[in-house]
Amino acid sequence: MLAYRHAFHAGMHADVLKHLMLVQTLRYMAEKDKPYTYLDTHAGAGAYALDTAIARKTGEFAHGIGRLWARKDLPPAVADYVDLVRRFNGPGALVRYPGSPAVALLMRRADDRLRLYELHPTDHRLLEDGFGAEAHTHIAKGDGYASLKAELPPPSRRSVTLIDPSYEIKTDYTRVAQAMQEALTRFAQGLVLVWYPQLLTRDSQNLPLRLRKIADDLAPRGWLHVRLTVQAPDEHGFGLIGSGMFIANPPFVLHDALRTALPFLAGAMGQIDEPTFLLEQRAA
Ligand code: SAM
Repeated sequence: MLAYRHAFHAGMHADVLKHLMLVQTLRYMAEKDKPYTYLDTHAGAGAYALDTAIARKTGEFAHGIGRLWARKDLPPAVADYVDLVRRFNGPGALVRYPGSPAVALLMRRADDRLRLYELHPTDHRLLEDGFGAEAHTHIAKGDGYASLKAELPPPSRRSVTLIDPSYEIKTDYTRVAQAMQEALTRFAQGLVLVWYPQLLTRDSQNLPLRLRKIADDLAPRGWLHVRLTVQAPDEHGFGLIGSGMFIANPPFVLHDALRTALPFLAGAMGQIDEPTFLLEQRAA
């Protein structure tokens, strides 16, 4: 039984980091004419209202996109991402937030394909209602991990795969590592992005190390790992303190873009005295 609903968390600092990197990655993919496939193994509902009781209940977006929305001093990669959220909202206030499917839809060209997998019945229905009529878009109420077998390698031999589970099940950590391995074994050149929660647990701390080993063996264009730590754990040492993204075969421009974006994001979204970030890569 899946209990997690992304609507409670949409637009929080973890979404900012994830979607900023997705925007930069898809912009890079659009530099070549040849179409790409965007595969979202854990798509969520696709788009979220922020002016609802469900979003206001946690108010998490206020410490994420809410802290960037009115700033005039955004570094280029952050400005690019905030512009996309503005396009999604239209003129006026921040009242909606694009999930990863909406980010991909706004970034894609006419022939790029979207493959969106979501297991939760309610979020799958919302995804179907919001995105089902779009061209070259396939939506499945299916297991995103199992989708790799059906979707990779992609017909045009160009792909971006986002693996973004909620980690509500402990086995997600192992399944994510296996999914990275399977994605790269099926299609070594594909870009694979993994989001993970930064917690003070061994699973969370080990995951990037496991991904790094897999990418060292299988990704011909190297990897990039980024982590942004902006919150304190609770008094028992539990709770999200930040998040990370690991990318196999990253766009070569990403490292430089993040070098200016990350200190800015840490300063803007930090809820602790000394927010920190990590940026490391193995270039091809
Ligand atoms: N990628 C979305 C975004 O950035 O807007 C957020 C996704 S949310 C963190 C994770 C989603 O994965 C939840 O909606 C959950 O219902 C769904 N989910 C959990 N296990 C799944 C599985 N095995 N296959 C597909 N979806 C799954």
